[in-house]
Amino acid sequence: MTSYVLVLNCGSSSLKGAVINHQTGEVKLNCIAEKLNSSDAHITFKYNEEKETEDLQEKPNHVGAIEAMMRQLKNLHLHQDIQAVGHRVVHGGEIYRESVIIDEDVFINIQKCIMLAPLHNPAHLIGISAAQSVFYDVPHVAVFDTAFHQTMPKKAYIYGLPYDLYQKHGLRRYGMHGTSYCYVAKEAARLLNRPEKGLALVIAHLGNGASISAVVDGKSRDTSMGLTPLEGLMMGTRSGDIDPSIFSFLHEQEGWSLTEITAMLNHKSGLLGVSGVSNDCRTIEAEALSGNERAQLALDIFHYRVAKYVAAMTVAAGRLDALVFTGGIGENSKTSRAKIVGQLGFLGLQIDDQLNAEARFGQAGIITKSYNPLAMVVPTNEELMIAKDTARLAGLTSA
Ligand code: AMP
Repeated sequence: MTSYVLVLNCGSSSLKGAVINHQTGEVKLNCIAEKLNSSDAHITFKYNEEKETEDLQEKPNHVGAIEAMMRQLKNLHLHQDIQAVGHRVVHGGEIYRESVIIDEDVFINIQKCIMLAPLHNPAHLIGISAAQSVFYDVPHVAVFDTAFHQTMPKKAYIYGLPYDLYQKHGLRRYGMHGTSYCYVAKEAARLLNRPEKGLALVIAHLGNGASISAVVDGKSRDTSMGLTPLEGLMMGTRSGDIDPSIFSFLHEQEGWSLTEITAMLNHKSGLLGVSGVSNDCRTIEAEALSGNERAQLALDIFHYRVAKYVAAMTVAAGRLDALVFTGGIGENSKTSRAKIVGQLGFLGLQIDDQLNAEARFGQAGIITKSYNPLAMVVPTNEELMIAKDTARLAGLTSA
C-alpha cells in the first residue's frame, strides 16, 4: 500500500489541500475550498489533470470542506492510504523551533501565538479541529512557517526598541517562508553536490510575498520579514521597509486611522501601489515593455531592493557560496534575475544569459558564468516539505 500525507493550509475563508506521496513527491489529488462561511462556498478537486467543483451549501464551513474531501478520497479509494495529516501553521512564536505532532498542548500553544498572527492562527486552529474530526485515526502534525528562523542570533532578531517590549510581548523579528527556505536550502545543497554543512547561501524567495534569508550550515542566520510579513523587500502589494514615521505623517495629513494605514501598506502598496497597474509581475513586465514608465519604476525599485538585501544578507552569512532564486518571480522571471544579478557584480556574480533563459518553469539550474560564488534557481515545494516533515514525525519514514 502506498502511504500518502494530506497537506492542509487553512485560511479563514479558504482551505487548500494536497494528497502527496512523501517519498516520491507525486501529488495524487489537489483541492481548494473557497468562500467558506458564505452562500457561495464551494470546493474544486483536481485529479489526473481534471477539475471538478462541488457546492458546499449544506455545510459551507471548514468541516463541510474536509468532509467533501473525505468523500472524494473514498470515491477514489484513497482514504485508507492517508497515513498522516500535515498542517501549515504560520506562527509558532518562540515556542516551536521545528514541526511537532499536534496534541492538546500544541493546540493551546498555537492559540497563544494568535496575538502574533491574528489573521492566520485562528483559521489554522479551525482547520486542525475540522481535520481531526474527519481524519480522527491518524497523526496530525503542525509545520510552522516561523520555525526555521528560530536559529537566528539575537542581534538579527531584536529590534532597536525598549527591550522590555520584547520581554513583555515577544516583539521581535520572526520571519516567514521558513518551510520554503528549509526545502530550497536542502535542494540547493543536493544540486550542488555539497553537504549543507559548510554551505553559505543567500536565498531570495520572490513571489507575490517576497523575503530573503541568509542560510549557513542549513540554518537561518537572518531574514528580511519581521514580526509580520510586511517588513523587508517590496512585494506585490506590501510596501516592505518604510520609515515608521509615515504612520504619524499619514494620520496627520490624511486623517487615516492605524487600521487604514496598515491595510494600505499591506494591500495597496508595493508593485501595485507604485505601478498603479497590477501586483502581478508578469503584467507589470508586459506594461513596462510597452513603455509604461511607472511599471518600469516599480520593477526598478523591486530589483534594486532585492540586490541591496542580497548584499546585506551576505554580511549575515559571512560569505557567499550561492545566491538562490525561488518563488514565482525568482523561478520564472529571467528579466528580474538578470537585473538583480547585474547589480551584484562586486560580489563576483556574472549572469549567463543562456543558462538564465533555460532555468525557468520548474527547471532548476545555475544561471551565472561565475562558479564561486554562483547564482542558481531552485523551484520551491512547500507542500512536499510539509509532507516529508509530517511523514518523519508520524514514523512513516526514518529520514
Ligand atoms: P508566487 O506568489 O510564488 O505564486 O508568485 C507569484 C508571482 O510570480 C506573480 O507576481 C507572478 O506574476 C510571478 N510570475 C509567475 N510566472 C512568471 C513569469 N513567467 N515571469 C514573470 N513573473 C512571473
